[in-house]
Amino acid sequence: MAQTQINQLLTEPACEHNHHHGDKKNRTCQQQAKPGTAQGGCAFDGASITLVPITDAAHLVHGPIACAGNSWGSRGSLSSGPLMFKTGFTTDLTEQDIILGSEKRLHQSIGEIAQSYQPAAIFVYCTCVPALTGDDIEAVCQTASRKYKLPVIPVMAPGFVGSKNLGNRLAGESLLDYVIGTGEPPQLGTHVINLIGEYNIAGELWDVLPLFERLGIQVLAKMTGDARYAELTQAHHAHLNLVICAKALLNVARKMEENYGIPYLECSFYGIQDLNQCLRQIAQHFQDPELTARVEALISEETQQLERDLAPYRPKLQGKRVVLYTGGVKSWSVISAAQDLGIQVVATSTRKSTAEDKARIKELLGEAGIMIEGGGAQELLGVIQRTKADMLIAGGRNQYTALKAGIPFLDINQERHHGYAGYSGMVTLARELTHALHSPVWEQIRQLAPWEVGYE
Ligand code: SF4
Repeated sequence: MAQTQINQLLTEPACEHNHHHGDKKNRTCQQQAKPGTAQGGCAFDGASITLVPITDAAHLVHGPIACAGNSWGSRGSLSSGPLMFKTGFTTDLTEQDIILGSEKRLHQSIGEIAQSYQPAAIFVYCTCVPALTGDDIEAVCQTASRKYKLPVIPVMAPGFVGSKNLGNRLAGESLLDYVIGTGEPPQLGTHVINLIGEYNIAGELWDVLPLFERLGIQVLAKMTGDARYAELTQAHHAHLNLVICAKALLNVARKMEENYGIPYLECSFYGIQDLNQCLRQIAQHFQDPELTARVEALISEETQQLERDLAPYRPKLQGKRVVLYTGGVKSWSVISAAQDLGIQVVATSTRKSTAEDKARIKELLGEAGIMIEGGGAQELLGVIQRTKADMLIAGGRNQYTALKAGIPFLDINQERHHGYAGYSGMVTLARELTHALHSPVWEQIRQLAPWEVGYE
C-alpha cells in the first residue's frame, strides 16, 4: 500500500467532498488519523465493514486479538445462506511475533482455515502491528492461494493510515485489484446492475431485491450485503452500477466505469419519493419503453398499497417533531422518508455531509430547520430542548442522550434490528416510530418522582 494510493483515495475525484468549495478545506475525506485517537473507527474497521458482509468468505484479521475483538459482530449485515462470515478469525499476534515476524503464523492460519472450513475465499486484513513490522502480507497471500487453491485476498488497510472512510475505499481497492473481473457469470439478462455500498443491515436489501426482480432487472453483484464471493468476481459484466446511500465506495464505481465502461448512478432506497426517483433513473438509463412502463406500473401499485398500509400510522405520526442525528447521505435520505410520513424534521446533523448533501438538507428542512455541524451529547441536548422535539432518530450511542432528554429514540444506524429500505421498509419505519413515540413509558418518565412532588 503506497502513500500515492492513499493520497489518491483521499482525493477521490468522484466524491463530492473533494470538489473545490472556495478556500475551505475538506475535512471528511482527507481527515488523517491522529495517533492515539480512534476517531470513530480506524481504516481497518472501515475495510472490515465493507468486506465482512461477503457471507461465504472467511475473514482473517492479521493482528493482535484486540483488533478483531473491537470490530467483530458489531454490525447487523444479514445472510440468506452461508454463515462463514460470522466466524471471527485472527492470527492473535503476540510480542514473540513482533520480534520474530509473523508471516509463518499467517501462512499457517490461512492453511488451517482453508482445510477446516473450505470457504469460498479468505480475506486477510492487515492491521497496524504487521504493517509496522513490515510483514509481506501480499506475498504470503499469493503463496497460500497457490498452495490451497482458493482466492486469498490481502486487504491493506492498517488502522493508522486513516479514517474508517479511507478503510472503506481501501477495501474497495482490494475488490478491484483481486476480485472483480476474475469470474464469468453463467447467464446475463438485458438489464443487469450491481449494487454498491449496500450492506444488507437488518436484512433491508431483501425489501428491495424483489422490486428489481418484478421489473426484470438482474442484480448481478451486491457489494457487499449478502454477497457470495463468486458474484463479486463477475461484477464487471453489469450494465449499470447503483451506488446506494454512500460516498464510501465511489472509487469502485468510478474505476469500474474507467476499466469496464460501466456507468453509475447514485441512489437512495429510503423514502417513497427517493425510491421512486431511483427506479425512474434506472429506467431512463436503459432507455427501454417497456421497462419504463413496468417501473411506472410498479410505482403506482406500490404507492397505492403503501397508502393503505400507512393509513393506521399517519394520524399518530402527523406533525411530530424529530431531531435526526446521523451522517452523510442518510442525513437527507431519512429526512425525505420522515417527511413522507408527515413527520417534521426540525434539526439534522451535517457532520459527514458534503456540500451537495447540505444543499439538499436545507431545501428539505426549510429556513427554520437547524443544521447541527458539531457533535456531542451536550449540543444535541440543547437542540432537543430548543426545538421541543418529540423524538431523536440517531445511532445507538446517542440513545442515552434521548433518555436524558426524556424523549423516545429510534436507532437508524448499523446496529438497528429493522430494515427501513424499500416500500415495505417504509411501513416498518412507520410502525417502529409509532411504537417508540406512543409507548406509555414516556409519560411515566416525565412525571415527577413521588419524593419530588411539591419541590418542583
Ligand atoms: S488496526 Fe490499528 S487502530 Fe485499528 S484496532 Fe487494530 S491496532 Fe487499533
